[in-house]
Amino acid sequence: MINTVLGPISEDELVVTLMHEHIVVNIVGEESSEKTYTTEDVLAYVLPYLMEAKEKNLQTIVEATPLGLGRDLDVLVQCSMKSGINIVTCTGAWEGMDYRGKCVPATIKEMSIDEIADVWIKEFEEGIDSTGIKPGFIKLALGDEGKIFPLQEKLLRAAVRTSNKTGMVIQCHIFESSSLPSAIRIIEEEKLPYDRFIWVHADGQMDMEKILESGKKGIWMEFDCIGSAEDFSKYPPAIKILLEEDLIEQLLFGQDSGSYWIKEEEEEWPMRPYARFFNEFIPFCEKEGIDTELINKVIIENSKRALSIKHINK
Ligand SMILES: [Zn+2]
Repeated sequence: MINTVLGPISEDELVVTLMHEHIVVNIVGEESSEKTYTTEDVLAYVLPYLMEAKEKNLQTIVEATPLGLGRDLDVLVQCSMKSGINIVTCTGAWEGMDYRGKCVPATIKEMSIDEIADVWIKEFEEGIDSTGIKPGFIKLALGDEGKIFPLQEKLLRAAVRTSNKTGMVIQCHIFESSSLPSAIRIIEEEKLPYDRFIWVHADGQMDMEKILESGKKGIWMEFDCIGSAEDFSKYPPAIKILLEEDLIEQLLFGQDSGSYWIKEEEEEWPMRPYARFFNEFIPFCEKEGIDTELINKVIIENSKRALSIKHINK
């Protein structure tokens, strides 16, 4: 079973699944508790884009916005109900780019590794706050400045302990590929099975050496900068290498698309339409010799395997 914001569904109900999208991102972070928008605002803006993607057969969105980055369950529930798209929400914390803890809730920052893990495990077992809604994965972000800071290490260890207890997969945003070896060292120390770790934004630098190295260990590689890519030319060669190296089973797709962004400056963020993957990316790959069949296997079969709860000894 996979947790969605409308309750658990069977893995076979996920069908076409994009692994990394956003509905609302509130980059102001945890410190501002006041909402500057209503659920209706978001629905009016986002729903047409969701419906467009739904018409292209998108059935599930993995919504990669943890608490502190703008996770908004009311919005997710309404979007899922009105669009008919499954939405999977997350636990975890976002410590990416050079935000230095700005998006991590203050209460989490003060806790020990095991205390943080307890909070996240409780969300999985009992639901988030009093909503009864349970997360389907753990979202993290770290290492974007070329090293892993102490807060980031603490969050990663807490994520691994949460994963080892619950079986949820970790989606870990790492733009700077030179930080990957330190992250891998930490998950190895914490004894995380490699197939419960997704390298989010593996296509950011498209560092093939690191991609092959981690793929051979059994780590998932997520190509998810597709929504913001100016062109897709770097993708077909990389996909062909993964095919040759027999690593296509470790590949995941997402777009980092959406969304209704709340920024400090209140400027409007351009929408990255959810349907772009189907309208532009798949036809481009087909033209470059990548079978649509293969892409479909990644967004259906690989996504399902990545999200499934595995290797837990209770
Ligand atoms: Zn993202």
